[in-house]
Amino acid sequence: MSPKTMLSSTTAESKGIVIIGAGLAGWHVIDAIRAKDKDIPITLITSDNGDRYHKPMLTMAISQQKNAADLVRATGSDAAKAANINLLADTQVTDIDPTSQTVQLISALRSDPVYTNYATIGYDKLVLAMGAHPIFPKSLPQDLVWHVNHIERFGQLQEKLATGSQHIAIVGAGMVGTEIAEDLLKAGHQVTLIDLNDAPLSQMLPPQATARIAKAVQSQGINFLGGYQVSDVTRNSEGKLQVSYEAVASATDSDTAQQPETLIVDHVIASAGLTVDDKLPTAAGVEFNRRTGIVVDAPTLRTNTDNIYAIGDCMSINGVACRYVAPLRAQAATIADDILGLEHGGYDHKPPMIRLKNKAISVMATGVPQASGNWQVKTETDEELIMDLLDDNNEVSATVTIKAPVIPNV
Ligand SMILES: Cc1cc2nc3c(=O)[nH]c(=O)nc-3n(C[C@H](O)[C@H](O)[C@H](O)COP(=O)(O)OP(=O)(O)OC[C@H]3O[C@@H](n4cnc5c(N)ncnc54)[C@H](O)[C@@H]3O)c2cc1C
Repeated sequence: MSPKTMLSSTTAESKGIVIIGAGLAGWHVIDAIRAKDKDIPITLITSDNGDRYHKPMLTMAISQQKNAADLVRATGSDAAKAANINLLADTQVTDIDPTSQTVQLISALRSDPVYTNYATIGYDKLVLAMGAHPIFPKSLPQDLVWHVNHIERFGQLQEKLATGSQHIAIVGAGMVGTEIAEDLLKAGHQVTLIDLNDAPLSQMLPPQATARIAKAVQSQGINFLGGYQVSDVTRNSEGKLQVSYEAVASATDSDTAQQPETLIVDHVIASAGLTVDDKLPTAAGVEFNRRTGIVVDAPTLRTNTDNIYAIGDCMSINGVACRYVAPLRAQAATIADDILGLEHGGYDHKPPMIRLKNKAISVMATGVPQASGNWQVKTETDEELIMDLLDDNNEVSATVTIKAPVIPNV
């Protein structure tokens, strides 16, 4: 069914389970429900086409010469048919009314006048799996700057990069920025990685650890500009992008005027973190924080609004955003059991192991690592650094293990 046809039948109440978002989180919930109940009505509403893909591949695919189509494991319509669900693709949820238990829909293609219809559908149980959005500070205009948080946008970038070696500036050296920097370098591009901090992963790990990552990244040929902020991106008369950046002012030089420097590149990728849109959580009346996401009760994944659950990048547990793939299966199984009224022992949240996909250095962390705090060295050699983060009771709350390059020069 085309989105136009689906939305034109402005609906009566069609109750059942409604899931918003067809990323890994939404599809995991469908798999978990269908493992227990083949027939209960499920409607999946998603602003994209619903295709199933493994998002972590987006920071590995370009050097493997894979395009977006290569990464799709099943199209949305095939996956919907296989799972016996009703897929409303290219459809955006614009409002939730938790009292009448309804959601408002509009075509995500509504800029085209053909798609002006909207609809309201009812739910018995609602699962919020609508992910998080990349942050675009004012200095990074969205019409000039890429992100790699969705396969569609990734696919457009991949096509541009497939035409030959180019210079790419990546703004933000968290995990995604650091991984895609290496992937693009391996694909033969020139890469400049810019971050406010002196080293990559500085919001997660202590300076002793991040200094090793900075060294590895630089020695493989990535131009790492640490301690700089991008102030502007504009297109010049030759069609290239001009990136203006300046040193982050320290307390001692706050009176000194900073002179911006410039870089001319072919593309800019923003990887400056994620935020959760407040519109739907506010409408649904669920407890919510823009930075970390929707608050859930960990053992049930229920929000504080009746019959509404949350999972994936839009959700947080104990004040920490849940933005990794590994816990999704267990979280989805709990939601399925809870929705279907089956006995379950409760979801037992354990922060997943975090592993940077870069080959120039091996970085692994367990627990909930954060830059500040009482980090203690356990092992320190040229090849290996192991540090523990101790909490107020001197208990280990996180451990990071950094090892020398797996492959010396990628
Ligand atoms: C480049 C990259 C590499 C990563 N690598 C790793 C890794 O190695 N290991 C790891 O554990 N994690 C990794 N992650 C994180 C992991 O991929 C995510 O945590 C996970 O994919 C999030 O899935 P999601 O379904 O919650 O969100 P998303 O994939 O963002 O899906 C959200 C869905 O909601 C839909 N939607 C949003 N708003 C609406 C609306 N209003 N109405 C209808 N539909 C809506 C969107 O269209 C989309 O289908 C990586 C992330 C990125 C970006």
